[in-house]
Amino acid sequence: MIPKKISIKENKNLNIIWDNETLSEINLAKLRKECPCATCLSEKEKNGRKYIPLFNGDQIAVAKIEMVGHYAVGITWKDGHNTGIYEFKHLLKLAN
Ligand SMILES: [Zn+2]
Repeated sequence: MIPKKISIKENKNLNIIWDNETLSEINLAKLRKECPCATCLSEKEKNGRKYIPLFNGDQIAVAKIEMVGHYAVGITWKDGHNTGIYEFKHLLKLAN
């Protein structure tokens, strides 16, 4: 499946309409928390399983979204963090 339309709803959720017309809604704080980039992964590892990151407004506000190849989207957050590449299947998993 590939996204047909991606939008931000009420500055709170990422809405993805897939090419089969299904909708995935992902909370932005959850999306940021699950950022798959190396920096965030090592941060999580360092802090252990019980670590709960606290985010400020800019960290969970999306500045830009772009397609990466045919398998992922890259998200730029308003705090400048832009190394997270989210594969479509990862997004699908986050949505439930
Ligand atoms: Zn990250």
